[in-house]
Amino acid sequence: MRTGRTSRRRYPRQAASGTNGHRTHDRFAWTGLDLLNGEIVPSLTILLTTKGCSWARRDGCTMCGYIADSNPDAQSSDIQKQLFEVLARYGTGFKIAKLFTSGSFLDQEEVPIDARDAILSALADTPKVIVESRPEFVTSEILDDVVRFNRHLEVAIGLETSNDDIRNGCINKGFTFRDFVRASKVAHSKGLTVKAYLLLKPPFLTELEALEDAIQSTHEAAPHADTISLNLCNVQKGTLVEALWKKRLYRPPWLWTAVEVLKRVKQMATIICDPVGGGTARGPHNCGKCDRQVVSEIKEFSLSQDSTSFTAACTDQLLWNYVLEFEKFSYGAPLVP
Ligand code: SF4
Ligand SMILES: [Zn+2]
Repeated sequence: MRTGRTSRRRYPRQAASGTNGHRTHDRFAWTGLDLLNGEIVPSLTILLTTKGCSWARRDGCTMCGYIADSNPDAQSSDIQKQLFEVLARYGTGFKIAKLFTSGSFLDQEEVPIDARDAILSALADTPKVIVESRPEFVTSEILDDVVRFNRHLEVAIGLETSNDDIRNGCINKGFTFRDFVRASKVAHSKGLTVKAYLLLKPPFLTELEALEDAIQSTHEAAPHADTISLNLCNVQKGTLVEALWKKRLYRPPWLWTAVEVLKRVKQMATIICDPVGGGTARGPHNCGKCDRQVVSEIKEFSLSQDSTSFTAACTDQLLWNYVLEFEKFSYGAPLVP
């Protein structure tokens, strides 16, 4: 539940849900590999252009530029057409389908009911269909409606952090941890699964605070989520994060921080991570020399859940340790680009 036009084009959101190399890719859909009940299976990700996230239209999150990808005039028929065009190209033989709308699939203002029903019916035989939603749309009434068309839904919620001060003060997310827990309970009560997106390194945190927040958040979200997706913050056009980054007041997380979080929380939850934009200035990065290997090991870990995937070593780990220790003295301003 985050990014923006350029970011979405440059950093498509397969990151939000895991996956691995070997993709066929076009602008609105791509294939990949994901975990389903401990097995690695083929997945299809579909981007649907809608009128955009209702929260972004009113206010918006500090790191999210998805609204730039929206079409204020998108009609129900347009949304259905997009889905059927993708299915005509890729088929329906995938084990997992991920529907990303850059907002909330369950928001009837964004995805009209007839489009929602048609899309879910078309994917009724797919073993897992992942849709994203803010918690306010995960209600008993809406879920009763959608399970009539598809019983294999996973609801992915952009919790970002279990800390309400960070979620609302740094991210401007506009809901509480309690809202997430309520939504998760409703989804589980209808037999659906839940994924929680956590954001590694919201703005205004030091690298160490970000690391600790992601660990604590996994600990607190895990009892309410079947899967945790660790999303590494990237710099999207038109966002507050971009404005801070341009002033050198924000640096995306180090890949080493992500590795450290994944190693330390793997006993708590099934946790996946796909470092969108990994190794670029706008994405999570290390020194430039080790980035490619670390990104690939993070993706490998997401599929295996085995931390022996992490073998990379690089001299910049000394620098990263220094950042963890000393960034508090710069009041969170990055010490290293
Ligand atoms: S809730 Fe926030 S992160 Fe999610 S799509 Fe809306 S503005 Fe973006
Ligand atoms: Zn390095």
